[in-house]
Amino acid sequence: MSSPALKVGLEIHRQLDTTHKLFCGCPTDFAESEPEEKFLRRLRPTQSELGQIDQAALFEFHRGRSVLYEADNHTSCLVEMDEEPPRELNREAVDVCLTASLLMEAKPVDEIHVMRKLVIDGSNTTGFQRTAVVALGGQLKVNDKVIPINQISLEEDAARKASQSQGTVGYRIDRLGVPLIEVTTAPVLYSPEEVQRVAYAIGSVLRATRKVKRGLGSIRQDLNISIPDGALIEIKGVQELDVLGKAVEIEVTRQQTLLSIRDQLHGRGLQPAQIGREYVDLSDLFNNSKARIIKEALNKGGAVLGVKLPCFKGLLAKELSPGLRLGTEMSSRASFWGGVGGIFHSDELPAYGVSTEEVAAVTQKLRLSPEDAFVIVADSNIKAKDALDAVVDRAIDALNGVPEETRTAMPDGTTRYMRPRPGAARMYPETDVPPTPVEEKYVAALNSHLPETSEKLVARLMQAYSLNSKLAHQLMDSDYLSLFERVESSAKVLPTFVATFLTETCKSLEREGIAVHTVPDGKMETMFSLIENGSIAKEALSDLLKWQVSHLNEEPEAGVQSLGLRMMTENELRPIVDRIMEKNRKLLDEKGQAAFSSIMGAVMSEVRGRADPKLVTEIVKKRLAAA
Ligand SMILES: [Zn+2]
Repeated sequence: MSSPALKVGLEIHRQLDTTHKLFCGCPTDFAESEPEEKFLRRLRPTQSELGQIDQAALFEFHRGRSVLYEADNHTSCLVEMDEEPPRELNREAVDVCLTASLLMEAKPVDEIHVMRKLVIDGSNTTGFQRTAVVALGGQLKVNDKVIPINQISLEEDAARKASQSQGTVGYRIDRLGVPLIEVTTAPVLYSPEEVQRVAYAIGSVLRATRKVKRGLGSIRQDLNISIPDGALIEIKGVQELDVLGKAVEIEVTRQQTLLSIRDQLHGRGLQPAQIGREYVDLSDLFNNSKARIIKEALNKGGAVLGVKLPCFKGLLAKELSPGLRLGTEMSSRASFWGGVGGIFHSDELPAYGVSTEEVAAVTQKLRLSPEDAFVIVADSNIKAKDALDAVVDRAIDALNGVPEETRTAMPDGTTRYMRPRPGAARMYPETDVPPTPVEEKYVAALNSHLPETSEKLVARLMQAYSLNSKLAHQLMDSDYLSLFERVESSAKVLPTFVATFLTETCKSLEREGIAVHTVPDGKMETMFSLIENGSIAKEALSDLLKWQVSHLNEEPEAGVQSLGLRMMTENELRPIVDRIMEKNRKLLDEKGQAAFSSIMGAVMSEVRGRADPKLVTEIVKKRLAAA
């Protein structure tokens, strides 16, 4: 798919697999256990990162909200709790980030300055995220096109959301402070396929450093998308590479549909001034309503307020992207500052317990013409008014086309309204962390030890391990290259088998929902060595790995035991071979050595999957020679 002059910029964030976090000595792996400690903090209104947004509204958003942080001593310390200042910038993370920068031909800055970027959702205990530009002005050649890399930064990851309930949001702080590399391209990607390709290419470069984390959650991608006549839309948090192209496609359709809605509104002669803020109290029309949310709001002393949206009939139900209508956009907008009880629009009614009669009564009371629509909100008077203000704002935006927004990516590639687009991010110097000088000598040293490029790597893999080109590429693009090389240097299991297992088998297990990436490399290595020393069959590896995923704290040998995967030893096989030979005495007398294949077949049919065929062959040959 291509649409005229679609322009996309890509921002890739990837966790670095360093020994410790960016500003303290805590490890970068995540807690598997229940938190040992919880502490509650109130969200304080801070300066807005939202630029033009009303400070009072922001205050409202924060009012009465608390954050429940969950922590444990293994994965966090006083730095994450914001009770101790950050230590100096993690040198290992700087090394990785600079190495990736040099691979993308970017120019390192002279001095790395850590800045504070304000965040409002509580995901950082400090109220800001620390970020530092490391290099500028790089480039990456993808399919013969040079993609400018604007900037490469080092950032601290935020805490991960653990729970959400009325007025309280919970975050686990094990992830807080894990180093992230951020790579930003220029907005020069012109099709969904190209976006996907470039993301893939950047991923290859980052993996070449051998110091990035793998698995779901280790990558987050943001997109900036614009089409002519549309608006710049920022999509945050696409987790899977494969979804990027689809997210772009869906966003293009969404903007195009919004533009067609705008044209229809113009066609119906709607003028901005006609969209008024006259909210009508409709509560008495719903005295006997069966709609649960409306009843609840009225019982609590709230009201049902309604507003006429002239010329909007049929357009609120218009699907912008799968599962998302203009009406949905209005209610997300209305919910932004803290949720609203019930919000309904005329295109979706009667439904949700609102009757045909009630719809007719509202239509009459609001004096709707046939082309008009309405929105009603049931909540406290103040909240209902705020919600309708947001609805009217969104309606006026619809008349103008596509509003600039920041949107959240859903796993299926659709997006939801997140917040208005902030102005240029406001940054403040982080005075607790001294600048890190990037001396020429240091850069030169890194430059002389750059990891091999992808072409060289593929050539080496093919030569050293006799892998075919497809498998060598797959391995390079997988997260398991380092593991593969370690396995081959120690266990000497057939390279093609190991490479296929680490790429194809692991990928299909992940697709089945088995979190293979959570198994530490050391345990994976042990599993391959079990094949090498004849303890298990190659065919048993998948089962063992599945077991390991659900027994992360146990050793692979325990799995071999509990699954009964252990291979038979020579001492166990010999009596079986002897018994089968005895049974086939007549055949042996007739054919002698030529009876080998019959005997072999009979033994294997008894021990298949539990014995190494090579070992069985040896024993049968030996016994035949002695017979
Ligand atoms: Zn720490």
